[in-house]
Amino acid sequence: MAKSDYYEILGVSKSADEREIKKAYKRLAMKFHPDRNPGNAEAEEKFKEVKEAYEILTDEQKRAAYDQYGHAAFEQGGMGGGGGFGGGGADFGDIFGDVFGDIFGGGRRQRAARGADLRYTMELTLEEAVRGVTKEIRIPTLQECEKCEGSGAKAGSKPQTCSTCHGAGQVQMRQGFFAVQQPCPTCQGRGTVIKDPCDACHGHGRVEKTKTLSVKIPAGVDTGDRIRLSGEGEAGEQGAPSGDLYVQVSVKKHAIFEREDSNLFCEVPVNFAMAALGGEIEVPTLDGRVKLKIPAETQTGKLFRMRGKGVKSVRGGAVGDLLCRVVVETPVKLNERQKQLLQELGESLGGPSGDTNSPRSKSFLDGVKKFFDDLTR
Ligand SMILES: [Zn+2]
Ligand SMILES: [Zn+2]
Repeated sequence: MAKSDYYEILGVSKSADEREIKKAYKRLAMKFHPDRNPGNAEAEEKFKEVKEAYEILTDEQKRAAYDQYGHAAFEQGGMGGGGGFGGGGADFGDIFGDVFGDIFGGGRRQRAARGADLRYTMELTLEEAVRGVTKEIRIPTLQECEKCEGSGAKAGSKPQTCSTCHGAGQVQMRQGFFAVQQPCPTCQGRGTVIKDPCDACHGHGRVEKTKTLSVKIPAGVDTGDRIRLSGEGEAGEQGAPSGDLYVQVSVKKHAIFEREDSNLFCEVPVNFAMAALGGEIEVPTLDGRVKLKIPAETQTGKLFRMRGKGVKSVRGGAVGDLLCRVVVETPVKLNERQKQLLQELGESLGGPSGDTNSPRSKSFLDGVKKFFDDLTR
């Protein structure tokens, strides 16, 4: 496939300096960035082209090679037997390392580092997590220095090509028999040095600032979910791309509900008269109170499912259910009359109909009896 000219891709002249190239790159990279053009294959292709053109043209060695040989300079075997680069005596590893390193993912020359990703833990109530919410957060971060536009160099100057490594970012050290490539100690592998640092950021290209962001949390998130805000992390060094901000969701414990995926659970205490005779109680849901019918002879632990009263997950799917677990409550602080009534009830349950009234007690007692009978046999 015929490749377009790198200068044409960036829309700059053949004599453009690094600053012009960087400017053109920033503009085009923003325009075609995949995050801004989701699902657009053409934009993605453009973005790759722009990035490649930028990487070649901002690398002194590669740019010189491109000017001389065109795209052929970067095609494997397209160099005409090692002529042109480094002289006939250079070993192949070096040539490939230096010239092709970045293209083949080796990345020997360290560019100014991309900004670090930031993580922010956002505490939400269950209601906020279920319904979604927009919250303002304040995060301390490093932002591009406005004074030098992130270059780190004083206004009117620009970073100079490092004289130790001539912009390669790497120097060769001899260790006995071997030649070893190491990051250049003068420029820490960046290939450039700042002679006249910007006084606002002291040459870092970044300054500390607290920024306020409005974060939209979609409905249905749960603890452990995270939301990525592309480019909202720390600014890169000397104009390199920013990192991302990850907002980590943490849902606070709720007084009534417990969530498990898309279902909600709650415990509902019921007095034992109602548990025995049946009746109707009110139970809470996230949308307000609803009535729940308690059938007669309801035991502790019985689960009642209220369909569609749970949560819809942020990942889609059906709305979950609310599961109410009944707990029969033993009455406390009884007055004399209540005690008397219970006494009568107790005597009645212990009477001839007791086995029928309390089948679990009966089968338990039968089990205990059998256990001791078997022991003593
Ligand atoms: Zn250097
Ligand atoms: Zn600055």
